[in-house]
Amino acid sequence: MTAQIIDGKQISADIRAEVALDVQKMQEEHGLTPGLAVVLVGEDPASQVYVNNKEKACNEVGFNSIKYELPANTSEDDLIKLVEELNGRADIHGILVQLPLPDQIDEERVLLNIDPDKDVDGFHPMNVGRLVVGAPVFVSCTPAGVIELLKRSGAELEGANAVVVGRSNIVGKPVALLLLGENCTVTICHSRTRDLAAVCRQADVLVAAVGVPEMVKGDWVKEGATIIDVGINRTEDGLVGDVEFEAAAERARAITPVPGGVGPMTIAMLMRNTLKAADLAL
Ligand code: NDP
Repeated sequence: MTAQIIDGKQISADIRAEVALDVQKMQEEHGLTPGLAVVLVGEDPASQVYVNNKEKACNEVGFNSIKYELPANTSEDDLIKLVEELNGRADIHGILVQLPLPDQIDEERVLLNIDPDKDVDGFHPMNVGRLVVGAPVFVSCTPAGVIELLKRSGAELEGANAVVVGRSNIVGKPVALLLLGENCTVTICHSRTRDLAAVCRQADVLVAAVGVPEMVKGDWVKEGATIIDVGINRTEDGLVGDVEFEAAAERARAITPVPGGVGPMTIAMLMRNTLKAADLAL
């Protein structure tokens, strides 16, 4: 079998186009334009690229976007003051504080101060809790993107055996909870899992979020499985995922490439979350 390649770039573009249409409708019917505030503290080059891409995506879908660039020595109190001000603004529906923050700032305290109904990154404990009890409001963007790729690539989720390799708070755990919400039978693996290969071979849906280049081998893949590779690893040969792509594609029904799979989905889901936040404010 040679797998269908799940085109994350195209799916991301489709979702952003859907959001743009909904923004037009919202403007026509309610006179409301969704607003996203993105806060960047310091000059981390990777964060600057992410923030600029988010701003560009906002402009494309028709959101108002406001970018705050604060100096690296900003105090925790000053950042929280800004968050509180944004919480109170009717024209701002989503607030995103770009992580990581400089050492003098406690990330947890900052995230706790974001109004959960504007927490479009889905990192506030209230939103994590809503996901755990099966009533998600804002799901963090990368995990939400994983589920969207599965659905749009035609994966059968109901009753499927889903294996998630990785249990981080930002990817593995929320992906596992979302798969449970889709009625998969979910197994979460991590660095202490015994015979990982045997567990992966049971997977109808396999999500790899490990951060180890090509750790999931082609012969760990069940014939006909759908594979979502969240890993982004820089190697001498360029970017590679956590899955041995060529060999896995021989056995899988469908697989995401790296790059061009999960990566582009994060921004698309941020746009969708911001639209939802504006909708909640109606
Ligand atoms: P973390 O390092 O936080 O978590 C990695 C997980 O993998 C841990 O649960 C760890 O287990 C597990 N693990 C590590 N080694 C092994 C092993 N040998 N066997 C089984 N499990 C193992 O990573 P993240 O979740 O933050 O990210 C994972 C990958 O996804 C990275 O490559 C990252 O760059 C990428 N990523 C991509 C995004 C995107 O596309 N937009 C967004 C976020 C992440 P244990 O808990 O036991 O230590």
